[in-house]
Amino acid sequence: MKGVTVLDGEVLFHIVPAFYPAFRCKAGECRHSCCRGWEIDIDENTLSAYQCLPGAWGERLRAAIAEEDDTAHFRLTEEENCPFLRPDGLCDVILALGEDALCDICALHPRFYELIGPYELCGLGLSCEAVCELLLDLSHPLTFLCEETGEELSLPALLSRLGFDASEKALTFTPVEDMHAMLRRLEKTEPIDEAWTRRLGEIRQKITSGIPAIPEGEIYDRMLRYILYRTAEKIPEAGLSAVLAFGRESVSFIALEDALFGFDAEHLRRWSEQIEYSTENVDFLLSCL
Ligand code: SF4
Repeated sequence: MKGVTVLDGEVLFHIVPAFYPAFRCKAGECRHSCCRGWEIDIDENTLSAYQCLPGAWGERLRAAIAEEDDTAHFRLTEEENCPFLRPDGLCDVILALGEDALCDICALHPRFYELIGPYELCGLGLSCEAVCELLLDLSHPLTFLCEETGEELSLPALLSRLGFDASEKALTFTPVEDMHAMLRRLEKTEPIDEAWTRRLGEIRQKITSGIPAIPEGEIYDRMLRYILYRTAEKIPEAGLSAVLAFGRESVSFIALEDALFGFDAEHLRRWSEQIEYSTENVDFLLSCL
């Protein structure tokens, strides 16, 4: 890559995790569908298309849209479901109008795109159970592909390309020493729902008699490395050591849950809903570190 001229704001390299092409939405098989519990904002282009769509489908779409403060979203049902989620877990909009009719958020989820200089880091968010399963079931080390050069990079190699130096040791998971301080910080984050607050209370109660042995090993290193990839765009502002500490605390919390309740991919997925998918919560935790 030496000798490449970087023009202002131009993306020259697209990076994806090597497991990215294996991602498939579980649709009707998904237990935690992203079509439940989230209010989906509709982008302007899709909104204009829905506003012009003739016939019964146009009317149905428009009847389901709420517009407030220059934004539009689908009104959730009483059960907090997307109004187009069918009982079999499939999407009525896709079935009737095709995938092209989806708004940007629905079409892209659970993908994310982050920019660092001339690099675009693309990945899959961990609030999706299919992504957690893919990451946790990997039978080979977590690596990243550069689409332009075809290179396969480890996380330390990728970070070095981005201008950050992190040793293998720094990217190997070790639990934080003070679990109580970590929990105090998590208790100050904005809770996604009451179940999250209840869970923290349950953990508090279970550790009154002491902190259990925290599991370590390759699977936790992999979680740490993927969380760092996900949060790498924060490094220029927050600093590498804060982002490393954030990743270590995040995996410590997930590993603490595994120690208390038994290993479960759901611990990683719920962490993601509460922290990864809340910019405010990520920023708050980074500011504490
Ligand atoms: S959470 Fe993932 S697997 Fe489930 S419906 Fe959404 S994209 Fe598909």
